[in-house]
Amino acid sequence: HIKDNHSADYVFFNEVMENKLQREDLIEKELRAAITENDTSKLYLEYQPQVDLKTNKIIGFEALARMRTESLGFISPMEFIDVAERTQLIVPLGNFILKQASEFIRDLIDKGHKDIKVAVNISGIQLLRYDFTDTVMEIVKDTGIEPSNLELEITESVLLDNYNIINEKLKDLRSHKIEIALDDFGTGYSSFARLLELNIDTLKIDRYFINKISVKDSSEIITGDIISMAHKLGLKVVAEGVEVPEQKNYLLGHQCDTMQGYLFSKPISKESALQMLTCNG
Ligand code: C2E
Ligand code: MG
Ligand code: MG
Ligand code: MG
Repeated sequence: HIKDNHSADYVFFNEVMENKLQREDLIEKELRAAITENDTSKLYLEYQPQVDLKTNKIIGFEALARMRTESLGFISPMEFIDVAERTQLIVPLGNFILKQASEFIRDLIDKGHKDIKVAVNISGIQLLRYDFTDTVMEIVKDTGIEPSNLELEITESVLLDNYNIINEKLKDLRSHKIEIALDDFGTGYSSFARLLELNIDTLKIDRYFINKISVKDSSEIITGDIISMAHKLGLKVVAEGVEVPEQKNYLLGHQCDTMQGYLFSKPISKESALQMLTCNG
């Protein structure tokens, strides 16, 4: 009856797979509809403040995509971005996100916050499109913002394939005064040698290394070394996932430039973000 057990497992496995495929199918349909209908009740952005460690002032926000539908409730961006990437919906979705973020920047400028930067996460598929720079510059022009108000975040994994092409794209974007941040640094395979020639402005240290600050064994804390090496390479440094004062103090002591995390604020609505800026002094 060992065989019977196996076939039972097999049936179960098939059911799990089927449910997963059904869910992905539904997410794809909802995504497509929301993009087509420009439905910002289903698909919208939240903004997480980025704070200057020395002055404690908000200097920018990271835009984070959110999806909520009647049939599925909240869906994590990890899940729906993944579906979008596999169905090529990431290109129209990415444009939708870039437009919303740029309109938010427009609002900020209108309210007198002209030096604020908003960072938008970009998938490798978007970056590899031949017309990506043109698309970004068109959105910048249409919304009447400055390219310097916009920052694009790419992850290390994007560099794994097509490294040379991607690096040329980044150079092109930077020549238009759009800043580039390398997201989740330390979790992928970029070496410091590679960082030397990479066309980026900012390094975002992954939460993993910020978490380590709170562990007992100090030999595991290399965050300070990452910060000083990044500075040697002329990069600005953002710490991701700062949750407790102990981490903030460490980062301050190690000359980190900017922090982002629950300690200061979770990602919030654009209305709350504007309000928070008003109290920013
Ligand atoms: P990410 O770009 O590294 O974004 C940071 C993630 O960490 C966000 O999760 C944010 O809510 C979360 N976070 C911020 N502060 C803290 C903290 O103090 N503690 C903890 N535990 N978490 C914190 P979120 O919003 O769920 O996004 C997950 C990932 O989905 C993002 O990671 C990014 O890779 C992707 N993503 C989100 N929005 C977009 C988008 O518009 N386009 C693309 N291509 N990817 C996106
Ligand atoms: Mg990011
Ligand atoms: Mg990150
Ligand atoms: Mg991440």
